Amino acid sequence: MTAKADSGEQARVGVYVCHCGLNIAGTVDCAQVRDFAAGLQDVVVSRDNRYMCSDQGQELIKKDIKELGINRVVVASCSPRMHEPTFRTCVSSAGLNPYLFEMANIREQCSWCHTSHPEEATEKAKDLVRMAVAKSRHLRELHPIEVPVTNKALVVGGGVAGIHSALDLADHGFHVYLVERDASIGGRMAQLDKTFPTLDCSICILGPKMVEASRHPDIELLTYTEVKSVEGYIGNFKVTLLRKPRYVIPEKCNACGDCAKVCPVEVPNEFDEGLSWRKAIYIPFPQAVPASYVLDEKSCLGLVPLTCGKCKEACERGAIDYDMYPIQETIEVGTIVVATGFDLYDPAIIKEYGFGEYVNVITSLELERLINAAGPTNGHVVRPSDLKEPRKVAFIQCVGSRDEKEKPYCSGFCCMYTIKNAVLLKEHYPDMDVTVYFIDIRAPFKGYEEFYRRARIQGIKFIRGKPSEVGENPASKNLIISVEDVSAGERRDAEYDMVILSPAAVPRSGTEELGRTLNIPRDSSGFFMEYHPKLRPMDTPTEGIFLSGCAQGPKDIPYSVAQASGAAARASRILSKPKWSIEPTIAWVLPELCRNTAAKCGICATKCPYGAITVEEKKAAIVTPAKCHGCGTCAADCPSNAITQLGFTDLQITSQIAAALTVEPEKKILAFLCNWCSYAGADLAGTSRRQYPPDVRVIRVMCSGRVDREFIFEAFRRGAGAVLVSGCHPYDCHYISGNFQCEKRVKALPPLLEKIGISPERLRLEWVSAAEGDRFAKIVSEMSETIKRIGVERVRNENSAAMKYLERMTDSRYRQIVG
Ligand code: FAD
Ligand code: SF4
Ligand code: SF4
Ligand code: SF4
Repeated sequence: MTAKADSGEQARVGVYVCHCGLNIAGTVDCAQVRDFAAGLQDVVVSRDNRYMCSDQGQELIKKDIKELGINRVVVASCSPRMHEPTFRTCVSSAGLNPYLFEMANIREQCSWCHTSHPEEATEKAKDLVRMAVAKSRHLRELHPIEVPVTNKALVVGGGVAGIHSALDLADHGFHVYLVERDASIGGRMAQLDKTFPTLDCSICILGPKMVEASRHPDIELLTYTEVKSVEGYIGNFKVTLLRKPRYVIPEKCNACGDCAKVCPVEVPNEFDEGLSWRKAIYIPFPQAVPASYVLDEKSCLGLVPLTCGKCKEACERGAIDYDMYPIQETIEVGTIVVATGFDLYDPAIIKEYGFGEYVNVITSLELERLINAAGPTNGHVVRPSDLKEPRKVAFIQCVGSRDEKEKPYCSGFCCMYTIKNAVLLKEHYPDMDVTVYFIDIRAPFKGYEEFYRRARIQGIKFIRGKPSEVGENPASKNLIISVEDVSAGERRDAEYDMVILSPAAVPRSGTEELGRTLNIPRDSSGFFMEYHPKLRPMDTPTEGIFLSGCAQGPKDIPYSVAQASGAAARASRILSKPKWSIEPTIAWVLPELCRNTAAKCGICATKCPYGAITVEEKKAAIVTPAKCHGCGTCAADCPSNAITQLGFTDLQITSQIAAALTVEPEKKILAFLCNWCSYAGADLAGTSRRQYPPDVRVIRVMCSGRVDREFIFEAFRRGAGAVLVSGCHPYDCHYISGNFQCEKRVKALPPLLEKIGISPERLRLEWVSAAEGDRFAKIVSEMSETIKRIGVERVRNENSAAMKYLERMTDSRYRQIVG
């Protein structure tokens, strides 16, 4: 499990300048760039070609590797985000290590964005090639890290999504632990009556799946169980589970219910949303899996000492065991799927709607239970105040959702389930007057709009307007809704027998804690965050952990099931291999430099968002390669420069800085851009042909967290006019918190810069997303103006006046690196 560095042999660099038809050659003088490259140190051959990515272009590289013995390859062409994998494969097929390849982006970040300045674009292209050659001279062989894979999976959460993920994985032949913290699997779907838009019975379609999961030979169902801790990394997770005592042995229990009949305790039944009662020993719902009773310790009169004991006496099968105790067990798995679902927002928070105060204001989930034939009223919808059938009901949408003060997001499924429940009420009670108050109706998927139309045809009234208040007539317990009807343009008060609220979907209780245990981040709404919202929506930023269903955000059943299968497929990719390869561009500790061997340090371990570094007293820090995601944050914060990031070493980056600032540095903006957002944003400026001043020279880092403050000082020491550090927007960081670490570091610098005589406005920290090409161009234009306003002369004076401080700020080890 090592990333091997080579012996550091003499670099023999081959440079290949691509015309990309006229995409590059239409602006940049490629022959000039080729000739310029030929004169750079260690460059053995320099060529230009119409299309370097073509077979013929790639053959040139392969031939030179074989015949001229070049051992570093630089291709000046499009963005590395486009063709880096193509050229890595090309050099690899010619026998050269793929990590001895570097790209200069002279299309997206040069020819396309400086079309009207061909001479300056050509000069910039030369600088970009100079930077790539400088870096390439310090590249070292890297080898993907291989870790063994335990081909078992853990699925956390036994709702419809978790059940589907577990079944898919098990059908692929992998052993699955399906962990559910409640006494039965089923989740919210088990509580629903019918499902939109087809109106099939929820438990009738879910029940068989629950049974299938419990009977599958490759699924180990662990209900009443929680995840306590997780150690390890992709392919090799060690998970400690806590199995809570049921006090009933499921294998012996035949669900006769004799125990519950004699139990004297009654508490509100959670499954019926508190609308019925259950005993202290109970079965969660008739179709529960496992089909076994469970003793709720908190409600029971007492087990230690035994206060009652009636249930045990009543159970002829001897299924009750008061001596059960919590059991911890450790399992080993290769991947984890998180399917912990959602909760409903507490509508009592919005005082104006009177939930909790007026008894006839209920929630949508309470209505699901009321309308269900197996529910507390056997399917008769009645008002809680007098148990009479309501004649006039109103639904209020977006209770807490789409509300800047509460939950700004749309909860996705509420419009559709309200239409469903309104339709069901109309079908059960054709004379019932049903009104839905909404902001917008969202019915985007297959059959949904048609279902909405059907509801309107059935006479359900839809009124656009968010009620400001619900009041109560104390005598009749009727409810008065005050609302501004947006379509009619009038305020009105209307009286109803019952009001049903559609509360926002919120993360399940315990989501935050589970996130910490699994080391997976949450987004601004509190749901688990996906690795990439478009391209990796089932992955979490922690490799090997995937998201299924509403744990990632509110979604309806078909979407949850689709995502469940997607998560299972992503997990299977790993489980189906005996070993898993990991990118080798990870953190690397030079033990002899780590100060923790002598004094207490461990800063790196506190900065790593993935817990990939362990630091023991008087020992050098150790990086667990399989846990490291290669953000480089630790390397930037290590006070001894004892950590570096392979593929983005200090030496490689400082050589790029020096190369970028070789000619007229005072006029240049040196930009450190993170790969995922800002570099992609700069690429977008190019692909959309947004024009901006050609003064900027970009250095790509994987994460803005890699930007060491020494790099910024080095840029000024080399004479830079301005420095831009840019990463993903807050909470969009691909490495959880790398951008926050960067922000802390960079925001501390302006007072220091001022003190040493450098205008602080020459350093900017900006968040630029991959969609913000215009913003990137605007920032560069502004910075270019700043340099002009300050004046090149003053920039030069400031840099040289500050030189003695800048020299001192870079420590001896660093000086040794940059020379
Ligand atoms: P859940 O159903 O929430 O299941 C999550 C499971 O994980 C639960 O069993 C929970 O106990 C378990 N869990 C949570 N935390 C942990 C933990 N830390 N450890 C172990 N286990 C844990 N969708 C439709 O398509 N059609 C409909 O008609 C429809 N009607 C709806 C009506 C209402 C009133 C509501 C609120 C939703 C409705 N939905 C409907 C949406 C539907 O409920 C969801 O799409 C579905 O339940 C999502 O399933 P899930 O497995 O992701 O989450
Ligand atoms: Fe109910 Fe507890 Fe008595 Fe059993 S021992 S019957 S659970 S109160
Ligand atoms: Fe060692 Fe640097 Fe980590 Fe400190 S921050 S423990 S010096 S590697
Ligand atoms: Fe790897 Fe980033 Fe952690 Fe360093 S901080 S060990 S580079 S994941």
